[in-house]
Amino acid sequence: MRILFVASEIFPLAKTGGLADVCASLPRELAAMGHDVRLVLPAYPGARAGLEAAGPQIPVQELPGVGCIPGRLPGTGLPVVLVEAARWFDRPGGPYGDTRGRDWPDNAERFHGFARASCAIAGDRAGLGWRPDLVHCHDWQTGLVPALLSLEGSRPATVFTVHNQSFLGRFDRAQFAALGLPAAWWSPEALEFYGDFSFLKAGLVFADQLTTVSPTYARELQTPEFGCGLDGLLRHRAADFTGILNGIDTEVWNPATDTYLRQCYDSATVAAGKRANKAAVQAELGLPAVGRIPLLVMISRLVEQKGVDLVAELIERWSDRALQWALLGSGELQWERRLEALAAAWPERVAVRIGYDEGLAHRLEAGGDLFLMPSRFEPCGLNQMYSQRYGTVPVVRSTGGLADSVVDVFAAGSGAAGTGLVFDAPEAEALATALERGLPLYRNRAAWHALQRNAMAADFGWRRSAEAYLEVYRRALAAAGGGHG
Ligand code: ADP
Repeated sequence: MRILFVASEIFPLAKTGGLADVCASLPRELAAMGHDVRLVLPAYPGARAGLEAAGPQIPVQELPGVGCIPGRLPGTGLPVVLVEAARWFDRPGGPYGDTRGRDWPDNAERFHGFARASCAIAGDRAGLGWRPDLVHCHDWQTGLVPALLSLEGSRPATVFTVHNQSFLGRFDRAQFAALGLPAAWWSPEALEFYGDFSFLKAGLVFADQLTTVSPTYARELQTPEFGCGLDGLLRHRAADFTGILNGIDTEVWNPATDTYLRQCYDSATVAAGKRANKAAVQAELGLPAVGRIPLLVMISRLVEQKGVDLVAELIERWSDRALQWALLGSGELQWERRLEALAAAWPERVAVRIGYDEGLAHRLEAGGDLFLMPSRFEPCGLNQMYSQRYGTVPVVRSTGGLADSVVDVFAAGSGAAGTGLVFDAPEAEALATALERGLPLYRNRAAWHALQRNAMAADFGWRRSAEAYLEVYRRALAAAGGGHG
């Protein structure tokens, strides 16, 4: 199958979260299974700099000032096309906002332009000499792609994946008019969304098949509590909507070969490996070098979704306990400040690093004992899976992909299969109770070791998920062939 991935983030060229990881790992797995997969990404400055074997820029005739730069994705060799448009993508800051985290005011125009260019590529009108059978789009930034393709006479099948429903890509009517989209799309049956319009909704309405990144999140999105105003639409499209748990990149996240670590290890050497890596990360972060004290780690975007407030509250409440906390993240200023204040108040127990640091993320996974992920909602989540592979016991709320990938060690019937600690209420108290149950295990070396080994044995590779996506692709091809031919 010829498959075109269209995304606003692809690791390692551009990344703000798990979306980037999925858009690199899934194509690689599909390519390994024999499919012809290519990727499209905006030409942010970092992406241009990182692209391997970049060819000369090819102008896209139907879009003045827009060009394509073909090249390869570092580390995978997958063909990538960067959509170059200096006015939209050549600026400092992140993919969606400036260096202070404020959204770019022209995001509707930027990602509409990106979608138009992606459609030109999908229709082989960008001089690349290749035409996909299917276009797989990801999150609101690409929501207009299935919509715009639906206007074309002969088009590829389309699949739209929701990685985070809370990012609606919502803009007002003036912006709708400025983009020159078909007037008929200003309707509740199409893009209109409570007096505005939503790029995400465009994807959900027009794609042949829809997916999201875990079975539990797929069910949650069909409820008013999680659906962000689109639960009715998703219930309506339930027959075309599948939850597929993300895999992880088991080469990048492998404690046996991880070059970021002081000492590599596997499940047979996890105790010694953890000791060495814990000492190293304590030294790196300026925490006292104590071996037998639980080190609780968190690596996260610092936003309400991730339950940072629960962790902050618990650190305060438990400031007199013999625990160490190491937190890495960046995001909203209020949470960055709050965490920094905790580190300033208890420097012996709390280390905080604000920023994005891939290497430290690996070292924390390797050196930590428990990984905290008390998310209010979590479409899939990756760190709880990385943690299991690194023998770092995840402590998670029972929501979305967390519920689908962590088995509570105390859950009735889980027996020897437990891989972490799971709690329900989005409250510091519930997180505290889960830890109160789990920490005694930490003091029992044999029990802890057994738990680590269970976690490390869990299979989070991409093969099974990639097969599930292929099934969805086949359904999309059948739908497109039947409906739009
Ligand atoms: P989300 O996509 O909602 O941010 P995921 O758990 O799916 O959450 O993916 C988060 C990814 O980003 C993981 O690979 C995680 O390690 C990484 N990450 C998040 N914050 C940081 C940070 N400050 N430094 C390094 N890696 C981070």
